[in-house]
Amino acid sequence: MTSPDPAFTEPLHVGRPNIGDPEEFLRLVQGALDRRWLSNDGPLVRELETRIAERLGVAHCVATTNGTIALEIAIRALGMTGEVIVPSFTFVATPHSLSWQGITPVFADIDPDTHCLDPASVRRLITPRTTGIIGVHLWGRPAPVTELEEIAEEHGLQLMFDAAHAFGVSLGDRMVGSFGRAEVLSFHATKFFNSVEGGAIVTDDADIARTARLMRNFGFAGEDDVVYEGTNGKMTEVCAAMGLANLGALDEVVTTNRRNYDAYVRELHGIEGVSVLPIGEQGRSNYQYVVMLIDEACAATREEVLAALRDNNVLARRYFWPGCHRMEPYRTMFPEAGANLPETERVAERVIVMPTGTSVDEQAVAAIARIVRARVEAA
Ligand SMILES: *Cc1c(COP(=O)(O)O)cnc(C)c1O
Repeated sequence: MTSPDPAFTEPLHVGRPNIGDPEEFLRLVQGALDRRWLSNDGPLVRELETRIAERLGVAHCVATTNGTIALEIAIRALGMTGEVIVPSFTFVATPHSLSWQGITPVFADIDPDTHCLDPASVRRLITPRTTGIIGVHLWGRPAPVTELEEIAEEHGLQLMFDAAHAFGVSLGDRMVGSFGRAEVLSFHATKFFNSVEGGAIVTDDADIARTARLMRNFGFAGEDDVVYEGTNGKMTEVCAAMGLANLGALDEVVTTNRRNYDAYVRELHGIEGVSVLPIGEQGRSNYQYVVMLIDEACAATREEVLAALRDNNVLARRYFWPGCHRMEPYRTMFPEAGANLPETERVAERVIVMPTGTSVDEQAVAAIARIVRARVEAA
């Protein structure tokens, strides 16, 4: 099905960075150069932390090098050990941040309607070694927070959330950021809001925030005073400058993503076996991802649709395929894990994440939908 003239002459990527205000970024970086203060809890990092905490209505924000380090620090600050229950249908950093520090990730299944953890599956996997649960707010949709809180309470487990997809998302009126004992954000370049590389631990728990700050800086409590085992998880001033320059444009990015989401729903309508995963009515979304689903009723396979898109320079992605339980080291450690994960395996075969963000407009969405329609009708 290779077409000689791709619909797009420039590749259209998933996760092309949104850049809010380049001049503001350069101005802030110049200030950091003038101060000769480039890292170590500088004024730009502090301002970014304050503004994020205010925006999310959470007491503490600890900015970090990236989201993965933030996960590792939060997991450690919460005292998780032994086994921790996580979804398999997530970015591999979620389980890696456990196994990296000798904790066993135990993979739970997802609800096929939301792609977030299925609380019943979580319950079935609790053992005497379980110390915690990490929920993931996938695609900008809150995980089943209330049910997971109930399970954690009942079994005395630590609960935290990987909120890498959920900056600016709410559950009802409450912003994601204050659920569980801590939540972790990612500000990677491909995320909806970026600080080039970056992340944060957000929490209402003063003890967790204090411990996370120590861990982020080698355990230093003062100039020569190391009181804790720590790592180097500090955010730089240059990264904080990018975060601050992007914060101002955030509402505009949500509006753009929303418009693109609506356009995908409209333009893909009526193609047999093709749909867009609904965002849900549980609160505000950031519309960070547009998830197209290719189900059994579709005449073309997911791989055929993906190939047609790629032939036209639309670099859509099969996110989280084939599931973390089918990636190393987990595939070797838990060869039978798939038996507990039927919905994960089904969903992982159906998803295509589509390009969105400020470099995609409605005409582009219409052209992308025409490629999908043509490929399905040709099958
Ligand atoms: C991006 C991402 C991470 C990792 O964040 P980095 O900032 O890239 O280290 C963790 N979990 C999920 C679900 C992600 O999408």
